[in-house]
Amino acid sequence: MRNFCVVVGAGLAGATAARILAEAGERVLVVEKLQHVAGHAYDEFNDDGMLIHIYGPHIFHTNNSNVFKFLSRFTEWHFYQHKVLSYVDGMLVPFPINRDTISQLFGLKISTNDVEKFLRREVENSEFKKPPENFEDVIISQIGRRLYEKFFMNYTRKQWNREPKELSAEVAKRIPIRSNRDGRYFSDRYQGLPKFGYTKMIEKMLDHSQISVLTNCDYFEIAEELKAKLVVYTGPLDEYFKNVYGKLEYRSLKFVFETYEREYYQPVGVVNYPNDYDWTRITEFKHLTGQKSDKTTICYEYPLEQGEPYYVVMSEKNMYKREQYMKEILKLEKTKEFLFIGRLAEYKYYNMDQVVARALEKISGWLKGV
Ligand code: FAD
Ligand code: UDP
Repeated sequence: MRNFCVVVGAGLAGATAARILAEAGERVLVVEKLQHVAGHAYDEFNDDGMLIHIYGPHIFHTNNSNVFKFLSRFTEWHFYQHKVLSYVDGMLVPFPINRDTISQLFGLKISTNDVEKFLRREVENSEFKKPPENFEDVIISQIGRRLYEKFFMNYTRKQWNREPKELSAEVAKRIPIRSNRDGRYFSDRYQGLPKFGYTKMIEKMLDHSQISVLTNCDYFEIAEELKAKLVVYTGPLDEYFKNVYGKLEYRSLKFVFETYEREYYQPVGVVNYPNDYDWTRITEFKHLTGQKSDKTTICYEYPLEQGEPYYVVMSEKNMYKREQYMKEILKLEKTKEFLFIGRLAEYKYYNMDQVVARALEKISGWLKGV
């Protein structure tokens, strides 16, 4: 009897899909490999009572009011504007690069207009391919080689273990360059963290009489027995197709957490270390969560080649393989019995809001029979 839907994965893509299906009257079984829901957005209180993000710092930000409205049904918000400093030339300077970064780095008193002129000069003195088509050329075309080398080159080599030229221009588009004094990491209209954490928010999304959640269960071990009318898959794309077009590369991370008996460790939520040390960044969670305590927990991120798949690697080779897998997806989705949604399933460098938007769009399309 095909009278229920299966959602593979209880991350934001899976939880959104399950909720929308359930509210439309469908019975939904969510199958999650891990022991917990919330996927990579999972957070929990550690032994020191600090709310931490086990899979790295997550700050919600979006311009999409539908997504914000949808999630706001399941949580109140701790409104927070994310700030990042970068450790460059022995100083902590604002990142993304803005007017204050240039002033501090070069000891200049400079107006917004002058910053634009300064950057234009830096670009004119640099060589890059026009039109810029990869990460390195896009960044150099905006700020010139000197600033690229200080802020981007080594961070990118460390994070991806690749030459920045090998990465797609899309990765560069994540980072704005500002000539004003806006010191925020994101400039989206809605920014913050769920007031009681992502896990609580996602548990609430899944708390519906039409939804059953099975954790600690790998979908592929029970797939044959499940005769569902719809399978919504949010796990790794290549795994679904048994790597027929070759394995896609994912970049992983090791997170090292430390708690200190002091109120704060660093001045802002995240400090990036482009040129020094083996870690890329240090996060201090209480800046993000607003939690008050005499203690503080921080997290170092060390990039890894193998391990839990955190990041899609946007190189030409992977993007080519992705296209082949996407053709298979199209065929399956045409049958109306499958949907592939999310960061891993679509092999896309999505933020949380994009994943929710994708799930809202694809599930409502399916419900309408599109
Ligand atoms: P996931 O959260 O990965 O969920 C997929 C789920 O499927 C997982 O729980 C997995 O266990 C499960 N699964 C996989 N295979 C199977 C199987 N065979 N059987 C059963 N279950 C399976 N986004 C932001 O917007 N802001 C941020 O600040 C931010 N910071 C980030 C920092 C880091 C270090 C990382 C790695 C990501 C960050 N993101 C951020 C991105 C964000 O994590 C993702 O966009 C979002 O969590 C993806 O949700 P998803 O449901 O697509 O995937
Ligand atoms: N990046 C960099 N220097 C920095 C921050 C980011 O070179 O100080 C580059 C790097 O390649 C990184 C990409 O920009 O992977 C995207 O950065 P973002 O902060 O969006 O990464 P995420 O939060 O997804 O890890």
